[in-house]
Amino acid sequence: MTLDFLGSLQRTHTCGELRASDAGKSVVILGWVNRRRDHGNLIFLDLRDRYGISQVVLDKDLGEEAHAKAEQARSEYVIAAVGKVRLRDASVINPKMDTGEIEIVADELRILNDAKVPPFSPAEDAIANEEVRLKYRYLDLRRPEMQHNFLVRHKVALAVRQYLSGQGFYEIETPFMTRSTPEGARDYLVPSRVHPGNFYALPQSPQLFKQILMVSGMDRYFQIARCFRDEDLRADRQPEFTQIDLEMTFPQQETIFRVVEGFLSEAFKAVGIHLPTPFPQITYDEAMRNYGIDKPDLRLPGLTDVKSAFTEENLTALQIDPNLPVVALRIPKVGELSRKERDDNKPLFDYRKGAKYIDDLKRLEKGFPEATAKVRELAGGEAEDLLVIVAGDAAVHIHASDTKSEGRLSEREIAIYSTAGNFRVELAKKYADRHGIFAITDAVVNSPERETGLADGSQAFRPIWVTDFPMFEFDEETKKWMPSHHPFTSPHEEDMDRLVSDPASVRARYYDVAMNGLELGSGSIRIHRQDVQAEIFRSIGMSDEEAKARFGFFLEALQYGTPPHGGIALGLDRIVMILAGASSLREVIAFPKTAKAIDLMVDAPTPVSEQQLRELYIRPTKQS
Ligand code: ASP
Repeated sequence: MTLDFLGSLQRTHTCGELRASDAGKSVVILGWVNRRRDHGNLIFLDLRDRYGISQVVLDKDLGEEAHAKAEQARSEYVIAAVGKVRLRDASVINPKMDTGEIEIVADELRILNDAKVPPFSPAEDAIANEEVRLKYRYLDLRRPEMQHNFLVRHKVALAVRQYLSGQGFYEIETPFMTRSTPEGARDYLVPSRVHPGNFYALPQSPQLFKQILMVSGMDRYFQIARCFRDEDLRADRQPEFTQIDLEMTFPQQETIFRVVEGFLSEAFKAVGIHLPTPFPQITYDEAMRNYGIDKPDLRLPGLTDVKSAFTEENLTALQIDPNLPVVALRIPKVGELSRKERDDNKPLFDYRKGAKYIDDLKRLEKGFPEATAKVRELAGGEAEDLLVIVAGDAAVHIHASDTKSEGRLSEREIAIYSTAGNFRVELAKKYADRHGIFAITDAVVNSPERETGLADGSQAFRPIWVTDFPMFEFDEETKKWMPSHHPFTSPHEEDMDRLVSDPASVRARYYDVAMNGLELGSGSIRIHRQDVQAEIFRSIGMSDEEAKARFGFFLEALQYGTPPHGGIALGLDRIVMILAGASSLREVIAFPKTAKAIDLMVDAPTPVSEQQLRELYIRPTKQS
C-alpha cells in the first residue's frame, strides 16, 4: 500500500467538534481509525482524536477512489478525510456521541500512515492486562479515558498555579542533583564522574531548598515539584511523583491552611466540583480517638467509646483490659453476618497490637443483655448496621508504653484505637456495595453537572486537617526516639522543655490534610533557630559532628537572620487520581513505573556499558 502525503491539507475541525448546525459545511478532519465497518458499497470509518470521534462515510457511488482507500484502512491508521457534513437520518442518530447527529461524507481520503495490528485496541473501554498497557503506553494513552485523566491533571495544575500566583507566590525551581534530604526514604543516587566516589542524591523533596528560599527573603515560594524516593512501592506510591510544594514566611498554621483550602477548592472548581471551605480540623489525638487513624475517611461513621456500657465484672468476664479503650465501629447497612462471613473477616483484623474484637452481638446479648443494649444505644445507627466492638485483650500484653502525659494518648491506647481504625477501613472496603457510601463520590466524579456548572462535592469529598502530631516516634529497631516527620519540624513552644525528659509528650507543629481516607499532604511550621535545630538533632541522637556533616550548610544558613516560616506539600498525583475517579496513581501519571519500579515502555532500569561504569569509577559487585 502506498501512503499518501498530507500535502497542503489543513484540519478544519477536530473529531469532536462537528454538530448538526455544521450540516452542509466542507470540512477536513484528521485522526486515527477507531473502528471500521464495511457494508460493501458503504464503508464507515470512525475517526478519533483527543477531542472525540466522528463518523466518516464512504459511498462507492459517490467516489470510487476514496471508497477503495477506505477498504484498505485498518484500526489505528492515520487518516485525512475531506468531505461534507451531513445530518444523519433520525433512525441512526447516536445520542451517546457528541457528534452523533452528523456524519462526514468524504469524497477524498488519504491514508497518512498505517499501523501494525495493535496488541489491544484503544477503542476498548477496559484493558485487563496492565503490563501490556504500560509497555504500549502510547496506545493506552490514546484511550479517551486516559486522555480525560490528563485533561483533569492539566486543569488542576493550572488552577493551582493561577491561584498561588494570585496569592503572591513565586514558582521557583530547585535542583534535581543535590544532597540527601531526610524524608525517611532511601535516596536515588547519581554518581559524579568529575568527583570519583562522590554522589548527588535526587531530592526526596525540595524541603531544605524551600526553607533556604525563605532565608533568602522570597517570602512565598511554590513549585510543582518532582520528588524521588527509593522505597518499596505500594498501590499508591511511585518512585518519582509530583508534589505541590510551598513555603511561606511568617505564617501562622492557619495562614497555610487557608492557602491550601484556596488552591484545592480552585482545583476542584476547575473540574466542575464545588468543595466547601474551610476544612474541619482535629488534633492527632482526636483523630485516633474518633477514627483510629490519622487520615480519617469522614464519609464513614467514626468510632464510639462504649466502655461505659460494661461493668467491671463484664470486662473481666470478657477478658477485656479495663485500662484500655473499648470502642465500637459501625458500618452502615451491612445486615447480619453469617458465621462464615464472620470467619472470612478474621484475617482483616490485626492481632499484633494486643487488641481483640467481638462481632457477634447477638451472642454477646445472650450473656450480657444490658451491656449490649447500651453499646447499641451509644453507637447509634440502624438495626441493620454492622457493629463491632474492639478492646484490649486482657490476656495479651504487648510491649508498648503506658506513659501518657496529660490529655494525651499512650502508645498502648493508640494501639487499640488504630487496630479498630484499620479494621473499620477494611470492613468498609469489603462491604462497599452494601453501604453504598463510596458510590456517592463516584456519582459526583461521573456527574454530568460537572460539564455545565458545579457539582456539589460537600458529601463526596471530605477533607480534614489533622494537627498536633507527636513530635517523636519510638523506633523499635534502633531503640531511639525518632522524629515522626522530617527533623526540621518545630515542636510546640510549650513542649520544648520536655524534648529530652519526655519525648513522647512533645507535640509537633505538624499537620496533615487528608481526604476520603487518603493523605493528601503534610507540612509544618519549621524550626527557624539554629540553637533549636541543633537541639532537635541532638535529641534524636545525632551528634553535633554528624549534624554538621549532613546539614552543615543548612545550620549555617539558619544563622543569617532566618525568619519564622512554614509550609506544606500535597501530592498532585493523588489529587488528580481522586478527581479523575481513578483507581491507581498509574492512571494519572503519563509514564509511570510498575510496582517493581520498572518502566516497561522504555525498559528501565538497564545495565550500562563497562565503559560508562569505568568513567564513574564504579565496579559492580554482582553481575546483573
Ligand atoms: N517536605 C515535606 C514532604 O515532602 C512536606 C513539607 O514539610 O512541606 O512530605
